[in-house]
Amino acid sequence: MNVVIVGSGIAGVTFAEKYRALSPDAEIVLVTGEHDGYYSRPLLSRGFTKNDIEQSIILKSFDKLRENNIDVIAGSEVTAIDRSAKTVAIEGPGQEKSLSYDKLILAQGSAAFVPPPLRAYEKLFFSLNSLIDLKAMRKFRQPFLNQNIKPHWAIVGGGLIGCEVASDLAVAGDKVTVFHAMDRLMERQLLAEDSVSLLYVLQASGVEVLLNQSVHSFVEEGGKLCVKTDVTAEFDALLVACGFKPRTELAQHAGLDVARGIKVNPYLQTKDEAIFALGDVAELPDGKLYAYILPIRSQALWLANYLAGQEQAAWSPAPFTTKAKVHGFEAAHPYNL
Ligand SMILES: Cc1cc2nc3c(=O)[nH]c(=O)nc-3n(C[C@H](O)[C@H](O)[C@H](O)COP(=O)(O)OP(=O)(O)OC[C@H]3O[C@@H](n4cnc5c(N)ncnc54)[C@H](O)[C@@H]3O)c2cc1C
Repeated sequence: MNVVIVGSGIAGVTFAEKYRALSPDAEIVLVTGEHDGYYSRPLLSRGFTKNDIEQSIILKSFDKLRENNIDVIAGSEVTAIDRSAKTVAIEGPGQEKSLSYDKLILAQGSAAFVPPPLRAYEKLFFSLNSLIDLKAMRKFRQPFLNQNIKPHWAIVGGGLIGCEVASDLAVAGDKVTVFHAMDRLMERQLLAEDSVSLLYVLQASGVEVLLNQSVHSFVEEGGKLCVKTDVTAEFDALLVACGFKPRTELAQHAGLDVARGIKVNPYLQTKDEAIFALGDVAELPDGKLYAYILPIRSQALWLANYLAGQEQAAWSPAPFTTKAKVHGFEAAHPYNL
């Protein structure tokens, strides 16, 4: 069996390692746009209070995976799928090639979602979705720290990532203002009373929280960045944290069914029986995306067992809860299954 995996997040790497353990003779190739190894995405939002984060976030080097007989093609993009020839096209530094597969595993994760009105200002703001993004934010911040200046950040979005990053930047000593469109923080994950506690915790750490704010544009003026809502306010840096968008384009161009994510059946199989999807990019028949570490790990282990012939029953999610990694805040939020 010749298996090609696209993506080196928890979905792709967990699947690759488990399938390698179960199928010693299989050929496994993992293609990824990343350069730095397999890292913990949840830790990105602790990227300002941990000085050694750029190293400690790496859970496994790509060489370690190669030692385990998983062929990793790093820093490369799968740009097309030819379903009739069962090949994928790959573009990387100085190379273009095609790989054939018996089974193709799409584990491409998600990109940061940017609301349409803000897309025109892409050069003015950061997103925090990958290690490259974190390094860019840390690099921007360093000259301020060198001069003992506290940069003032505007964070657009008071959801999970916006609140976590606001907390971490504030605890690291920066000034932070959060603009949130709704009347309470993390309204999609938290009970109303927990949103109130979260607001107090953030305020106590020095974060300014502005609710019911519709941010419609940014302007760069005299070295400062302005956020335009009903009023205008000035900042050193902007972060847009408005959710995530599964990377469905590759599947869509290949003629697979796509809605919010790549549509799969309860066996994580797309409408093409040789192609499977899991993790942030997969949409289950109930219309849900299971974009959290625990269910993704469960999908990856299940799929490896299924393809190795050791599992017959369909994947089903177990109940799980996650916690917002806001310093000093404890409420867990059960996922609504
Ligand atoms: C800041 C932050 C904090 C979070 N905190 C938590 C938390 O506390 N708890 C929790 O449960 N979840 C958390 N999450 C969500 C969790 O991290 C994700 O659900 C999970 O990492 C998704 O894993 P994945 O493997 O599906 O995708 P990803 O980790 O996104 O990996 C996808 C990979 O695919 C690669 N790729 C994409 N397209 C291509 C292509 N065409 N060719 C080659 N490679 C490609 C990308 O380079 C990437 O390596 C957080 C997410 C973020 C961003």
